[in-house]
This record gives sequence, structure tokens and C-alpha cells, in this order.
Amino acid sequence: GQCTLVCPVGALIEAPDWHDVLHTLDAHRRVSAVQVAPATRVAISEEFGMEPGTVSTGRMINALRQVGFDYVFDTNFAADLTIMEEGTELMTRLKDGQKLPLFTSCCPGWVNWVEINRPDLLPHLSTTKSPQQMHGAMTKRGVFASMLGPAFASGEAEPYVVSVMPCTAKKDEARRPDMAGDVDHVVTTRELAKMIRARGIAFGALPDDGTFDNPLGESTGAGQIFGASGGVMEAMVRTAAHFLGEEDSLPLEWHQLRGVDKVVKTADVPGLGRVAICNGIAAAQELLEDESWRQTFVAIEVMACVGGCLGGGGEPKSMDPLILEKRMKAIYAIDRQAPKRRAHENQDVQKLYSTQLKHPNSPQAHALLHTSFAPRHSTRSLLMRFLDCVDRRDG
Ligand code: SF4
Repeated sequence: GQCTLVCPVGALIEAPDWHDVLHTLDAHRRVSAVQVAPATRVAISEEFGMEPGTVSTGRMINALRQVGFDYVFDTNFAADLTIMEEGTELMTRLKDGQKLPLFTSCCPGWVNWVEINRPDLLPHLSTTKSPQQMHGAMTKRGVFASMLGPAFASGEAEPYVVSVMPCTAKKDEARRPDMAGDVDHVVTTRELAKMIRARGIAFGALPDDGTFDNPLGESTGAGQIFGASGGVMEAMVRTAAHFLGEEDSLPLEWHQLRGVDKVVKTADVPGLGRVAICNGIAAAQELLEDESWRQTFVAIEVMACVGGCLGGGGEPKSMDPLILEKRMKAIYAIDRQAPKRRAHENQDVQKLYSTQLKHPNSPQAHALLHTSFAPRHSTRSLLMRFLDCVDRRDG
């Protein structure tokens, strides 16, 4: 059996954090910053009666300012940063011929599943933090804290950091001991809708013209497609092509990795090798059943939710049978219209590497942007062991 910690699909009742967030904002004790994940902007509209697939990026930014946040940032910025770190990590592993294939680790549902059910796979997980946690680190201890002034840069004062995620498992991720409390509160897309209602904001009447603050607000289309199954791999392939000097010869779009059907999809990337994506944990289990994955692939993406984050347990509930397709189309439309579509083209990410972070996978980047994983036991397995002990003692 698998542990409920994996539960990304909302079968667990989410512990609501939005009340605490509103109280903290109202107390005005700390500078506040919020980041929004790619899958939230294509789904929040549904909570306010708009057509599924309506993109509400600007409306959501305006609403977050009215809710009371001082700064509104984009998780997509950190998705671009994730690609720089993870893409570089992949290149290094390829050079060393070690710990391949690389599994993505930005989905805590998948990470939890590996830690509990397949700890033997842990060396294959990318050590890069997820975009949520990278963004939190850059806000609380990185470039944003420095921008606010010496008291913040030294850690004497701390900004209050909230993230809006499509995901209930992200709450658990933010509490991991290695994450240094970089994200104070995680609210789901549904909780954001509750916050907007509690503030009496007429979401549908807001203009869709809000823009993100900088420096943690710029992003490319590559960051946006993180919200769909296959998107992390496609974004990584776009930047790997650049690292390999093949940017002009390789396609930008990898349609064979897209879609909401619950299967394993693969693509051959000339110069890099064969990559796979698993749309949902069941697809990952299917891939792992046949040991040939060890030799066949150089990189494998796993997203625990079918469809990826756009199908996350924190997204609005919908009766529409085509809901995943509609949100997915909206995500790829944002990418298509983006002026820049490759993570390494993000100028603020480039600036970060020319200053604080030096280069991808540098010691500075490792300190802020990487993590580690360890085997863990599910509550159920601990209970079983306890009962086993009691049983033996009684016997
Ligand atoms: Fe969360 Fe996305 Fe993973 Fe689902 S796929 S568990 S929403 S990170």
C-alpha cells in the first residue's frame, strides 16, 4: 500500500492555511511576498464562474494586491531557475556516466512516494529544489532579501512568504526540515478563491492587467509549462539543446511528451538521449516494472497527478470531463505567446548567475537551491511495526 502523504489528488482534506495568511497580513508586522504557481492562473477563473481554460494571470495579480500582499512574484521565475540547475546537473551526470537516468524531483507527491516505497531510487532524484522552494529561498535569503536592505540580508528581519499552489502536497514540502522555513504558508488555488471572497473582491470584475514585481517575477514559456505533465521535461530539453549547442537544430516544442492520458511517453533527443515522462504515479509504476528503464533513458519526469499540476488536488473541483484538456491548452497557449520560451533566456535568471549565484551548480547555488532526500516510513508502516512489537511482547 502507498501512504496518504502521496495524496496529491485531494482525497485528504487539506489543512486550511488561508485564515492564518489573512491574519498575518492584517497584522502588518512583516513585508509580505506571494508567489503563484503556473497551474493556478489557468484554473482560478473557474472558481468565479468563468469558462474553464480562461487565463487570469493579471486578474489574479490584482486580486493578490487587494488581498494585502506587498509583493506579487511568479513561481515561473524559479521554474526557469530549476531548469538551469537541473539541466546542468543532468549534463554533469552524463559526463560522469553516474546516477542515470535522472528523475525529476519538483513534485513532492512523487518524492514522497520514492522516499516511502522505493528508497533505492533516491540517488536518481535530482537534488534541485522545486520551484516553490527555490523561489522561497531567493525571497527570504537571496536577492529579494538583499534588495529590502541590510536587516533582511542579514536575516535579522524576515519577509513573510506565501505561495499559491495547485497542490496539497506542497504544504508538506514547505515543512521539510531542509527547507529552512523559506515558505511560511502554502495555500491552494481553492484557498486563494476563499481569500478573495473573504475580502469581498469581485474577481470577475477585476481587469486582467496586473503585472508581477521584479526581480522574482520575470519568466519564460518554459517556466509556464511546468504546470502540465511533460512540461518539466520539455523545458529541460529546450535548455539542454542550448547547452549542447543544438538550439537551432532541435525543435522547441515536444508534442510527443504532451497530453493528459495516464501513460508513459518518450522522445529521442539527438545529442542527449532518450527521455521519458510518467503522467501520474501509476504510469511511473508501470515504467519501473521493467528494469530496462535503467539503460533506456537519460532523464525521466514523474508528476504524481494525472495531467500534472493542472490536475492537482488544490485546484478547483470541476464536473467538466474535459477540464484537464482545457487547462492544458491554456498553459501551452501562454507558452506559445511568451516572448521568450527557453529558461536560459530569462534575463533576471542570467543576472542572478552573473552576481550572487556565479554559475549553475556553484557552491552558492548548492547552498540555496539544492536539497537531499532520505528514506522514510509511512505512518501506516510505523503503526504496523509498533503493532508487531506489541504483538511479539504479548506473545
Ligand atoms: Fe503537487 Fe503537481 Fe505533484 Fe500533483 S503533480 S502532487 S499538484 S506537484
